[in-house]
Amino acid sequence: MHKLEWDAGMSVGVDAIDNDHKMLLSLINEISDAIEHNKATSVIEDVFERLEVYVVEHFSREEALMRQCGYEDLKAHIRQHRKFIDKVPELKRELLNADTTEVAAEINLFLFDWLMNHIVGEDMCFAQLAHDQGLSTRNHRKPSCLRRLTAWLGSKLTLGRRIFLTALIPIIGVSLLSVLVLWISIQRVYHVQQLVSVTQVVHEINDLSHNLQAERGLSTGVISTGYRQFQQELLNQRALTDLAVDTFVQRLKQLPEIDPLLSTQIQMTTAKLDELAALRSQIDLQSLNATQALGYYTTLIDSLQKIPEGTLQLEMGSELVNSMTAYTALLHMKESAGRQRAIGTQAIAEGQFSPGLYQLYASLIGEQRSFLKVFRQFTNQEQQQEWASLIEGPAAIRAQGFESLINRSMQDDRLPQLDGQLWFAVTSARIDELKQLADELGRVIDRRATQKVNDLKGGLYITTAVLAVILGLTILLSWLLNRSVIEPVQRMTRAMTGLAKGGRDLRFTEHFAQDELGRMALAYEQCRRSLLRADISSAVSNHRQNIELQARIREKERFRMLASTDPLTGALNRRKFNELADNEVERAQRYGRPLSVMMLDLDYFKRVNDTFGHAAGDDVLRAFYSTCFGRVRSTDIISRLGGEEFAILMPETDIRQAFELASHIREAISRLVVELSGQDKVSTLTVSIGVTAWNETHANSISDMLEQADQALYFAKESGRNRVVCFDDGCHHETSRIRALDA
Ligand code: GH3
Ligand code: MG
Ligand code: MG
Repeated sequence: MHKLEWDAGMSVGVDAIDNDHKMLLSLINEISDAIEHNKATSVIEDVFERLEVYVVEHFSREEALMRQCGYEDLKAHIRQHRKFIDKVPELKRELLNADTTEVAAEINLFLFDWLMNHIVGEDMCFAQLAHDQGLSTRNHRKPSCLRRLTAWLGSKLTLGRRIFLTALIPIIGVSLLSVLVLWISIQRVYHVQQLVSVTQVVHEINDLSHNLQAERGLSTGVISTGYRQFQQELLNQRALTDLAVDTFVQRLKQLPEIDPLLSTQIQMTTAKLDELAALRSQIDLQSLNATQALGYYTTLIDSLQKIPEGTLQLEMGSELVNSMTAYTALLHMKESAGRQRAIGTQAIAEGQFSPGLYQLYASLIGEQRSFLKVFRQFTNQEQQQEWASLIEGPAAIRAQGFESLINRSMQDDRLPQLDGQLWFAVTSARIDELKQLADELGRVIDRRATQKVNDLKGGLYITTAVLAVILGLTILLSWLLNRSVIEPVQRMTRAMTGLAKGGRDLRFTEHFAQDELGRMALAYEQCRRSLLRADISSAVSNHRQNIELQARIREKERFRMLASTDPLTGALNRRKFNELADNEVERAQRYGRPLSVMMLDLDYFKRVNDTFGHAAGDDVLRAFYSTCFGRVRSTDIISRLGGEEFAILMPETDIRQAFELASHIREAISRLVVELSGQDKVSTLTVSIGVTAWNETHANSISDMLEQADQALYFAKESGRNRVVCFDDGCHHETSRIRALDA
């Protein structure tokens, strides 16, 4: 018998338990040694005693550890332990009483088997738990934060989900980024669209402020001339201004929703426009002086001109910003010119420039120069050339002539007689020129803004398409990568689970890449083959053991048969017959059931031997037995009592039925022809039969019954052979008498 060596793979990771297992292994090896070398009973008793003690100690240590770990299968485990503790003394007894080496080997094998199952099957289950709870004596290093985090994630999400998330998170990132980019693009389009809406009112603002400027000039003219001049012009201008106000208000109504700051500016302006009627009536009632009227109009125009200025805060790109800045500069310049016209009109009408008024007048000229500079700065060379006749056209030159005249006269400290109407006409022509310039620039802005919106919209569509393609590709690639990992892992998991459950048929026929998964598949395949080989060799060894066992059983059966049957005919021998017959007699006696026996003896058998030889005699005996066997019930018992003498015991059969059967046998034997080797045959066989039934008053045992049957047989022989004689109440009835009784 082999000794079992300790293998590092048997370790459960807790030193105390491993040492116990090593000790148990060495004790079982000692038992094996004692069996092999046929050692004295005292040696076996001693080892078993130590095993009993050690097993108890080990189990209590193990159970304490399991309790500490909170092992959920503890109860079942304790039950297993108790069972084994009870089993050890039983094994010892069996071993000491074992009469064959097979029994001893079986006990030894059982112990090895138990230990392996205990270590690998039962204790390995809680080894992981002990390790997780830090009770393991191996690998004491504390896991890093990262490792703990990944372990936590692993406990919360399956591998499939984790791989899925690995793909999903970049997709979410790309999607969010796409949404952000789209949102920014849409915002840009929205802003420029607002700008387009506002540029649509820019023309009306220009128009309205132009009319208000003219009305302001005429109003100051009327007041300054003491309501003698410009009255008709003012009335005409007011009608024109009202028309411009209507157009402006109508256009505002058509505006879509715009930037809140801009819309506040627009509201403020319209509120001021509503006060225009009150201002006019104050002028008409002569309750305002020229400076006050100038101030009111100027505030209104200022507010109106702030609207295009407000668009500068919208995101619109440098080109549009430049144009819009030039435009607002132009509007301010025009406004300055307007105020200059009004002040000039006032001064000419009053016949002098007060120092304050002149200072204002001069500053307005300076202002216009600055605004012109800004305008030039924010328009390109081409535009300046294109609009040269408007920037500093004939009207501008005439106005400058007037200006220098006023300047010169101011140096001489007296204002010459100037024509107020002419002043108004010249400066208005200049303002008209500026208005035309503003209209031109307004159209450019309008065109550029529309172009910008279209460009941005085009950009937005392209961005959307590109983002959609990127997102689609990301999703597709992520899905493919995901599948390329999760699918083989799932297949591998199925295969490994199947392998663990005993399945050996799952093979990976599909191609695996030469990566970690490929190596895993290769390792699986090697594992599968090793296990398959182990399974096959174990099946072969089992089969061999089975064959040996069957052979042993057959051998045993043969010996048993030899011990209870006659080797020549196969009939039961006398010993077996007596054994079975005793049972039947007892049964008949207890339950009062009928039981009969007959004794058969071939007539003149000696002659057969003498004539044909002993072998032929044997053949005849076999033929005789099979003839009898073919006629009895399965419950009847045939025995060869010796030589050519047989007995048949018939349970549940009374004397009459027994007689019938005996007669059939007798007739069958008289017809029997036994073919011998060569040409010979025996055809003159007869048999004499003595029959008796169990009867409490005459027979108490099988030997009594056989005695009676023998007497009847003797009578049959005596009375001429080839007949059946029944034993009855001490007298022997011949066949004929029984038949007579029947009749
Ligand atoms: P009876 O009619 O009176 O019974 O005459 P018998 O010749 O049959 O009786 P006997 O007792 O004189 O002879 C029995 C013979 O059976 C003697 C013996 O040689 C033979 N015999 C006994 N056992 C065997 C056996 O196993 N094989 C063979 N071939 N002959 C046997
Ligand atoms: Mg005989
Ligand atoms: Mg005889």
